[in-house]
Amino acid sequence: MRSLNAMELLTVWEQGLSQPLLQRALILLAVALPESEPEELTGMSIGRRDRHLLRLRERLFGPQLVNTSVCPVCSERIEWVNQVSDLLIPQDLYQASANRFTIDVDEYKLCVRLPNSLDIAAVIGNPDTESAQRQLLTRCVLNVERSGECLTVERLPDPIIDVVIQQIELLDPQAEIRIDLKCPACAHRWDALFDIAGLLWSELNDWAEHMLQTVHRLASGYGWSERDILELSPVRRQLYLGMLGT
Ligand SMILES: [Zn+2]
Repeated sequence: MRSLNAMELLTVWEQGLSQPLLQRALILLAVALPESEPEELTGMSIGRRDRHLLRLRERLFGPQLVNTSVCPVCSERIEWVNQVSDLLIPQDLYQASANRFTIDVDEYKLCVRLPNSLDIAAVIGNPDTESAQRQLLTRCVLNVERSGECLTVERLPDPIIDVVIQQIELLDPQAEIRIDLKCPACAHRWDALFDIAGLLWSELNDWAEHMLQTVHRLASGYGWSERDILELSPVRRQLYLGMLGT
């Protein structure tokens, strides 16, 4: 994967500006995997997608992640630091798993695929967790049979649903990363869901805003074009900014 220059990165940011977060995740994924077809990216499981986004994050902004959370009890804002490598599930857990799997339990036989970005986009507006989960499974359970008779997902009993969910979590462990946090103010402990797509987009947004301000100052000070400024190395941009005294 070659590295992106400042102009290309600004273009990526601009493409995602008016898009919802899931679309932004796919735009970033296309940066990570420029050779892949769009259907391959949209069909990729959430965990596999997030592995690529974590590696992209490391390439663009380095291996250390600084994140913030708000204590659900006392609202204290806490900052926590992780290395990208700490959050990557070991590769060997992914080697064997395919996008589709079968479940054969009691008299039920199911064919299921792992949830992808389009599945999450379809259910994310549903405020009811249980109904959203059923909606997700309706999309991801491709076939159900009981003793040779075809069934709909709606007719699956809860214990079978639980087996499906457990199997999805087992085969796509990178899809849900939780960070164990402790509030320094009230000692409350909780686990926060880590969202690499949201974090990476927010970092890209901060970087882009800062870069545009830099372009504005250098263009105002020296009369250079945007392209000239973006083609400078980060060190030179910084030095010229310093000489302007801004
Ligand atoms: Zn607290």
